[in-house]
Amino acid sequence: MTLRQIIIHPDPRLKTVCAPVSEITKDLRRLADDMLETMYDTPGIGLAAPQVGVLQRLLVMDCVKKEGAAPRPMVLFNPEVTWASDEIGTYEEGCLSIPEQYADIDRPNAVEVGWTDPSGEMRKEHFEGLWATCVQHEIDHLNGKLFIDYLTPVKRQMITRKMQKLKRERAKA
Ligand SMILES: [Zn+2]
Repeated sequence: MTLRQIIIHPDPRLKTVCAPVSEITKDLRRLADDMLETMYDTPGIGLAAPQVGVLQRLLVMDCVKKEGAAPRPMVLFNPEVTWASDEIGTYEEGCLSIPEQYADIDRPNAVEVGWTDPSGEMRKEHFEGLWATCVQHEIDHLNGKLFIDYLTPVKRQMITRKMQKLKRERAKA
């Protein structure tokens, strides 16, 4: 497995609506493994393919945060929200493509998501709480949407400028 480089906002690849995966190839399964490793290494709880420059509908996540608890790595191809609760939950969200910036975001508290797993099997699951927030955040990535897009233009601009500065500093280093 290889660690992949995570793309930092702003970048046109993070604003792209990704293409559905038509066939789950060996390369895509390897990519999913790399994404999981990259996510755990960073560390984060979710990562979408466009964040590593692959514009296809694939995401990985593991929201088990409790120390000592068994990890639950999940790989979702072509995930789709098939139901969302009326009840709204608020979580302080961050993003591996927008390091060290956090904001309270409102989303449905629970969602039902359908997807294809790495073996080609169709799956469906009900997610709540942090898992629901994470899967919605990651599916947004597949549609070219970032959590800062839910903020006011002024806040979004402020964060974007910080990220531009961070990228300039990294490029110099
Ligand atoms: Zn993100």
